[in-house]
Formats: sequence, C-alpha cells, structure tokens
Amino acid sequence: MSPKERIAALRKELHQHNYNYYVLDNASISDFEFDIKLKELESLENQFPEYFDSNSPTQRVGGQITKKFTTVTHLNRMYSLDNSYSSQDLLDWEKRIQKLLGTNQIEYTCELKFDGASINLTYENGKFVRAVTRGDGFQGDDVSTNIRTIRSIPLHTGGDFITDFEIRGEIILPLDGFEKMNRERIAMGEEPYRNPRNTASGSLKLQDSSEVAKRPLDCLLYQVVTNNRKFKSHYDILEAARNAGFKVPKTIQLASSIDEVLTFVNHWDEKRHDLPYETDGIVIKVNSLQQQEELGYTSKSPRWAIAYKFQAEQVSTVLNEITYQVGRTGAITPVANLEPVSLAGTIVKRASLHNADQIEKLDIRVGDTVYVEKGGEIIPKVLGVDLSKRPADSTPTIYATHCPECDTALVRTDGDAKHYCPNTYGCAPQITGRIQHYISRKAMDIEGLGGETVDLLRKEGLILNYADLYDLRVEQIIPLERMAEKSAQNMIDGIKKSKQIPFEKVLFALGIRFVGETVAKKLAKHFKSIDSLMTANFESLVAVDEIGDKIADSVIEFSNDLGNMQLIDRLKSYGVQLTISEEELENQTNVLEGKIFVVSGVFHQMSRNELKKAIEDNGGKVSSSISKKTNYVVAGDHMGPSKKVKAESLGVTIISEDDFLQMIQ
Ligand code: AMP
Ligand code: ZN
Repeated sequence: MSPKERIAALRKELHQHNYNYYVLDNASISDFEFDIKLKELESLENQFPEYFDSNSPTQRVGGQITKKFTTVTHLNRMYSLDNSYSSQDLLDWEKRIQKLLGTNQIEYTCELKFDGASINLTYENGKFVRAVTRGDGFQGDDVSTNIRTIRSIPLHTGGDFITDFEIRGEIILPLDGFEKMNRERIAMGEEPYRNPRNTASGSLKLQDSSEVAKRPLDCLLYQVVTNNRKFKSHYDILEAARNAGFKVPKTIQLASSIDEVLTFVNHWDEKRHDLPYETDGIVIKVNSLQQQEELGYTSKSPRWAIAYKFQAEQVSTVLNEITYQVGRTGAITPVANLEPVSLAGTIVKRASLHNADQIEKLDIRVGDTVYVEKGGEIIPKVLGVDLSKRPADSTPTIYATHCPECDTALVRTDGDAKHYCPNTYGCAPQITGRIQHYISRKAMDIEGLGGETVDLLRKEGLILNYADLYDLRVEQIIPLERMAEKSAQNMIDGIKKSKQIPFEKVLFALGIRFVGETVAKKLAKHFKSIDSLMTANFESLVAVDEIGDKIADSVIEFSNDLGNMQLIDRLKSYGVQLTISEEELENQTNVLEGKIFVVSGVFHQMSRNELKKAIEDNGGKVSSSISKKTNYVVAGDHMGPSKKVKAESLGVTIISEDDFLQMIQ
C-alpha cells in the first residue's frame, strides 16, 4: 500500500470510529487503539505534507489560533422563529396557514427546541467546507476551525445523500459534560460557568481551537437547505441526513393535527428533564417542502414554523436561612437556604439572592414562602415572596454586617452592588482562593496540587500564602488525609516546576485586582520585571497602552502593601521568574515605537501570528484595519484586494515580509 493509500484508509477508518462513538454512541474500538491509529496517520501526514486535508481526523484536535473571525454573508438567511405559549396560539397559527394554503390537509413535524447556539454548515461535493454562526441572520462569523473539532459533525457525508447543501443545527453542551467542566473549574478555584447555552456559544468564539476540542460539545441538526428537489418532506430529508452521518435526534415525530402536536408538547414538557441536554420548547414545522415554499417568510421568521415555549418552572418553598459566601476577592454573595423542593427534575436546597439591594427590593425574609425559578442558569434564583403566607412575627432581613468566616466588618464602596470582607490576608476563603488562583492552569499551572488540597493545607496551618508553597516538604504532606508518598512527591515536583513559568503568568498568578491574563501580559512586556512594575508611578502605568486608572490604582495599592512586597521577595529567593527571560529580552526592542502596522496575506518566514508578535515585541502596534493612522501595511502573498486599494488611496506604505525583517534587524 502506498503512503497515499494508507493515509486514505486510516482517515476513512478513523472517521467511521468517530461516527460510531460520537453519533451512534456505540464505540467500535478502544481509545488506545484509536490513538495508535491516529498517531500513525499524524506521522504519515507529517512525512507527506502534500496529502494535507483540512478534513482529516487529525484536524479534530485543533491547534489553530483565530485572532479575528471572518464575517461571512449567509447564502440563505437564518431566520428566527415565532413563539407561541398556549394551545390557543397553536390553533390560531393552524388557522392562518390553512387559509393561506387553502387546504386543511397539513402534516406537521414536531421537534425539540435545542438550547444552544445555531450554526450553519456548508458541504460541497459531500465535504465539509465551512461553518458560520447565525450572527444577525444575514451574516455571521466563520468558525470552521473550531467546529471541525466537534467529533459528531461529519467532515465527509456518506451514503447517497445530496452532495451540495447547507445544514443547520444547534451547538450544545450536554448537561453531564457541562457539569464535569464546572467541577474542574471549581477545583481550580475558578468561577463555574453559569449555564450550558452561554458556555456552548462562547466556545465557538474561542481563539484557540485546541481549547474547543477539549470541550464536550455536540451538534444536533434540524434543517437542510438545498435547491435539490430529491426530497419532498422535511421529515424525509432529516432522516436521509441522519443516514448520511449527521446527528439528527430521533425525538422528531410526525403529527397530522394540532391535537397530536399538543400530545407531543405535553409529553416533553414533563419528560424534558430526563434528556441529556437542555431544551426550552418544541418547534413545529409544516412537513411538506412544497407547502413550506408556498407559505414563505415574514420579515422575521418562516410562516411554516413556530416555536412553543415551555414555562420556566417555578415552585414555592420556605426560606429557612440566609447565609453568606465569601469569594477569593472578598466579595460576599447571599445564599437562600431552602426547605428542599423538587424543581425541574432536581432537588433544590439553595438559591441565589444576588446582593443586599435585591433582598431589600423584594423584601425577602427568613420564614417567608418564596418563589424559586430554574431558568437557563444552573443555580436557581429567588423571584419573590408569597406575602399571603408571611408569618405574623416576621421581621425584615438585616444584611450581614460582618464576615461569616472571620467576623471582620464588611465594607461596601459606592456604586458597588456587593459587600466585601476587607480582611484580605486573614480571611480563610480569601487565603485559600488566592492560592487556588495562583496554582490554576492559566497561572502557575501546578500539577499534583488541586483546589481541595490547598484548603486542607491551609487548615493544617502549612500554608498561608502562595510563597509558603515553596517551603513545603514531602514529610509534612504524607501524613495528611488521602496523601501517599507518591502523591506528595508529585505535588512537590509540581511546585518546583512552576519556577520555570514565565514572568507574565507569574504576574497574573499574583492575583492583583483587575490584572487578568491580558493585562498581565501587557505589563510584563512593558515593565520587564516585577521591580520596575512595583516602583512604577501612576503616570508611567497609565502611559502603557490599554492600562487605565483602575488598573494603575490597583497595582499601586498592591505595591504599597508591605506584606505583598515580602511575598515577592520570598518568591524571588525561591527562583520564581520575576523578570522576562533573556531570550525574550533579546527579541525585544523599541525600534518600532509609535508605529502602527496592518498585516495582510500569507507569509513565508514566519506565521501571521509570529509576525504580529514581532511587531509588538519591537514596540509597534498591530491594527486590524487600514486607516490614515496606519504607518505600514506588511503585505504577504494573496493580500486582500480591497486592503491594497485602501492602502494606496490613503498613501500608506506597503512593505514586504523581507522589508519588515530588515526594519527590526
Ligand atoms: P429564537 O432564537 O427564539 O428566534 O429561535 C430560533 C432558534 O431556535 C433558531 O435559530 C435555532 O437556533 C433554534 N432551534 C433549536 N432547535 C430548533 C429546531 N428543532 N428547529 C429549528 N430551530 C431550532
Ligand atoms: Zn472575612
């Protein structure tokens, strides 16, 4: 077998295994064997780059970075759906379309309304070519690289399905996958995601496709758009799409009357809580494609379809107690502790009360019977009080004045909805929270140490701050609960390894308020060392691009704290990176200071991202569009024609990749 044939055979086989596992839910090979075959394919593809295919199974793991998603105009507009809320609404709709069609012979399809982010997939010659978000319905973002990582989406269609078409569906995050992601986040000391829908749609816009590949996203399909007349009904075309490899849920059902539609609606209103993903309603469509065409569209939505929305579920129950949670930054969140009650398929014991204003506005009191709703959010919320059930001896809620953890008086700054515990260094959840942040993946990424262990170590009095981590010894850890020699050693090794983490991440790890990942990068690049950052004054801080007053104040406040400075001295003494590396320093100059660049086209000696980095490393700025302020356009092969015209008309200098490299020599 020639390498070309072997590559083709491996791709075909791996696509089939993916399909079996992710669409049919029926594994046909062990993970281990799958990996071996994938590795073989990967190495063949590396050896023979001429056989590259963006639809190869190796592309599923992602790796490409998209800085800005390209806007694409939809070939066929993506409409919204009209909503209905009652059987009467549905009967009215039926009347309208019967009149328009001049017949009572209408068949319907009933489908679940999946709650995620809509996507339009384009196939040409049976091959996946593009995925675009709904956007405003007329145009959306090209998110193809991210979508390719979703294993249940076929990159080649099978069988005798039509070969050129668009297919639409919903990108969703199944509930168990969502909960798993959140467990991991909580263990890392990060805020959990609020709901599967926003997390799914946020995932589509992640810049790093390998991050997308790690998320357990799925795609459920509900509509095929084509000029091909091979199929006569919506139901048939979806069945055929399923046979061609797409994940079309089998919950779809035909109905010959609105009565039958209502049976479907009532069934799922109850049973939806048993589904592995969220749905917020039912979509009813006219089945005949001919009739669909006759009915057409209003300015907003198809006349041939309508959504039926389930009521968000509400229950009432007694509020037993209000407790207060303290976050890493000291922010206080009030929590309603409820008489356990069944809601939307789960037992609810706690609900969010947001903040003091909310409690006051709704006049929520302990002993009250309150209404609780579970909407899209995982944590239910209290909507209001059933005043008819208020006990006679009830008294208004007095919001906590002191921290529940350390008894320090709470503070609240003007304009802030939240109260804070100011005992930053003595309050247990804040201490633990900061260390958890320090070790988290995007910060020091310390392996062998998890969020719960941090809390345990603090309780045992072994650590009070992140510098203490570096003094830990194996013998201190082994006696702890659930620890053994090996895990203790792993932890110490992980901590030691973090001394190699580059300065910009260390700066983020320090947990200075308002200094997130991006800001930390900016500050690290500009000040180059912790010493020059900690001695910088307000003016020199705000002079840095994109650093505002709030951040500058916070950095200064941090540096004025003696305790912080002692921590930093200790980190230094352990060998943690508190300056940018020699290598990075060497690559950085100020020769491009004050110059604004636009980059367009394909380059040879470096990737686009490397080029952009080189511009920034040398003090220049990268902008995405050409304007009068642009100093240079670095043009590679296939530079966009409209960019060229614009640059020329504004008299902006166009330079080549070589010219650019000369500039920074
Ligand atoms: P809305 O955003 O409320 O106007 O509802 C329209 C959206 O519902 C569409 O853009 C789809 O993303 C989504 N949707 C979910 N499930 C379905 C389905 N089975 N059929 C059609 N649209 C659906
Ligand atoms: Zn406190």
